[in-house]
Amino acid sequence: MKASFIDLAAQQNRIRSRIDANIKKVLDHGQYIMGPEVAEAEKKLAEFAGVAHCLTCASGTDALLMALMAYDVEPGDAIFTTPFTFMATAEVVSLLGATPFFVDIDPRTFNMDPAKLPAAIAKAETEGFTPRGIIPVDLFGLPADLDAVTKIAKAHGLFVLDDACQGFGGEYKGKRLGGIGDVCATSFFPAKPLGVYGDGGALFTNDAELAAKMRSIRIHGMGPDKYDNVRIGINGRFDTLQAAILLPKLEIFPEELELRQKAADAYTALLKDAVQLQLVPSGYKSAWAQFSIVSPKKGAIISALNAAGIPTAVYYPIPLHLQQAYQYLGGRAGDFPVCEGIAKSIFAVPMHPYLEGDLIGEIASLILKAARA
Ligand SMILES: *Cc1c(COP(=O)(O)O)cnc(C)c1O
Repeated sequence: MKASFIDLAAQQNRIRSRIDANIKKVLDHGQYIMGPEVAEAEKKLAEFAGVAHCLTCASGTDALLMALMAYDVEPGDAIFTTPFTFMATAEVVSLLGATPFFVDIDPRTFNMDPAKLPAAIAKAETEGFTPRGIIPVDLFGLPADLDAVTKIAKAHGLFVLDDACQGFGGEYKGKRLGGIGDVCATSFFPAKPLGVYGDGGALFTNDAELAAKMRSIRIHGMGPDKYDNVRIGINGRFDTLQAAILLPKLEIFPEELELRQKAADAYTALLKDAVQLQLVPSGYKSAWAQFSIVSPKKGAIISALNAAGIPTAVYYPIPLHLQQAYQYLGGRAGDFPVCEGIAKSIFAVPMHPYLEGDLIGEIASLILKAARA
């Protein structure tokens, strides 16, 4: 391949000396678990997001899991989410014995369609489940319609856990993701917009009580003392070494978000008349974790790109209700037609802050040629 789908090396070249220095610091002080870099990363992440409390953790999956544990989600509970997301979003619900109820997506934004939430809540109640919470997902970096979701949540007494594992850095009506809804989860998996060199994640909330409960859950349900366990928890800590790597990456993150926006603008200008792109409603800013394209000519476009050395990916080929792991819920083809239609015709092209204009032009002309053939 002559281009990379995500270019982590270009970023590393910029900040390698700061990363090396930070790693050395950790090796020198030796506090590998919950060292000073973890606290520093949490303080800086909270400032960046404009949220009162941030706690880092071992992965985005653990972030989602710990938030649900803090709400005492249990068997019999219904949690509403989108079927067009990564497995982890729904998996954590199932891990706690609760049941995910899927809600079809908006065909323009690919995010959960809030207009379809009330029917899903009513269905769960009819089936004898207790509606507890909603997990909107900020797919490909684009914030979900969080005001609409929150309004429905309030009317039904549900919590909102924003899965911003792809969307951290994105903005909704002038506010960065993190403080919208009751709690927000993100991931620092290397390929996410803000990634480290291993697994990691974080939780954000303005609710002090919830933050304290999640901090306890993160370390085996600890109480005032480490060996005084007041609830069931997990080992959900973020490594000090990964926090040390996150810090210099967070410093350049605002600039990288702008570079991603520039790349997305360039793609959009060239492609918007030939293929369907993810709609960014006014007042929203995407973190551009992915740049996805919808076209009935998907197969031909992917072949043309790959033949020219341009990598592509598909997020996500199988909606969650059709995954083998979820067959026990009885999901069938046709249940969520918008999501199923998009899943068949969507694919993603290279997206990262260091994508050059010439390459974007070349990728776009290959797409245009194959789409119009
Ligand atoms: C990546 C991702 C997760 C899980 O994050 P990990 O850090 O890999 O555990 C959850 N939800 C979504 C939408 C994701 O993209």
